Amino acid sequence: SDALDVERIREDFPILQREFNGNQVVYLDNAATTQTPEPVIESISDYYRNYNANVHRGIHQLSQEASIAYEEAHDKLAEFIGANGREEMVFTKNTTESENLVAYAWGLNELGPGDEVVLSEMEHHASLVTWQQLGKKTGADVKYIPVTDEGYLDMEAAEKLITDDTKMVSVVHVSNTLGTTNPVGELADIAHDHDSYIFVDGAQAVPNRPVDVQAIDADFYAFSGHKMVGPTGIGGLYGKEHVLEEMEPYLYGGDMIRKVTYDDSTWEDLPWKFEAGTPNIAQGIALAAAVDYLEDIGMERVQRHEEQLAEYAYDRLTEEGDVEIYGPPADDRGGLVSFNVDGVHAHDLSSILNDHAVAIRAGDHCTQPLHDKLGIAASARASFYIYNTREEIDKLVDAVDDARQLFAQ
Ligand code: PMP
Repeated sequence: SDALDVERIREDFPILQREFNGNQVVYLDNAATTQTPEPVIESISDYYRNYNANVHRGIHQLSQEASIAYEEAHDKLAEFIGANGREEMVFTKNTTESENLVAYAWGLNELGPGDEVVLSEMEHHASLVTWQQLGKKTGADVKYIPVTDEGYLDMEAAEKLITDDTKMVSVVHVSNTLGTTNPVGELADIAHDHDSYIFVDGAQAVPNRPVDVQAIDADFYAFSGHKMVGPTGIGGLYGKEHVLEEMEPYLYGGDMIRKVTYDDSTWEDLPWKFEAGTPNIAQGIALAAAVDYLEDIGMERVQRHEEQLAEYAYDRLTEEGDVEIYGPPADDRGGLVSFNVDGVHAHDLSSILNDHAVAIRAGDHCTQPLHDKLGIAASARASFYIYNTREEIDKLVDAVDDARQLFAQ
């Protein structure tokens, strides 16, 4: 069949057996961080047990094995998102670092008064705060593509906002709060018509659907390993080769140089020019194992599974009529729902859900300005992944009902 074998997948995730408050955990905080399957845990363990060594330096056997595995991990990730090769795949700590790398290495040199950076109102703080602060440092103006009441980008406004003064458009591919999928390919075309670059924040896209950076025609594309069954401390920055070639390094030091004298230095080839110092070797190698794991399942099936769960959750949560869900309708969302229940603060809701061992996120999900725009201080967010089931969503709905009863008294 075309559906996921969820029961089989669940067996790979030891943490899903955890119990707290007398209940088996229902983990619905996947947009924050996903859980880790045995092959990824095994990959980390195998590295430290059998070939832990520094990369790029030694000619001894262990260093060679570590170097090859670490470099091949770049090839794997490049292929996974449709990049041409390892030259275009820089490993970073996470999406946040990828944003900052481009802001500092490119923006600080290229932006000045009269230049404009165009973001959207649904940006995560990772991009919003980074470009906002870079605007302050360089004198560039930061503008925002508005979000409509239905939770989509206002594309007519985008056409007007992006002009010949625009040097960078930075937009989120899939919103971590609204679940909206943005037309990033269309935005790339508009940006390129005005000789602007486009940076796409793919933190909620790469884990959840097939992504092809060249089909989008993104100049930069970022993601985080810990949201795609990989370890923490590793993520990626895709950049078009000629764009990365033209950029100055972000961090200086060992591993990123070719020739150093007391007076000057030259840089190592891509992508190593952007990976100064000893990198997160085990994490990088384990991220490749995470990609193997997801590719075995198939990204189309991952996407379908999550979106079906989100649609089911949307329908079940709104049965009572006192739940507001933010963003697009049930049949047009990524695998998450952010919501509020009338009369119950999101933090109280999350704490009552925790009594049922249902793990969700409560807060502003690093989109404070968007929450301000929605007129709310916080929301609850349930986000789904390959190991989640309808039964777990039923448990979520029962726990929400419990909160409703408690606060009705
Ligand atoms: N962008 C989006 C859309 C996200 O959902 C997240 C994670 N919440 C980030 C950026 C930041 O990711 P990280 O914390 O791994 O850098």
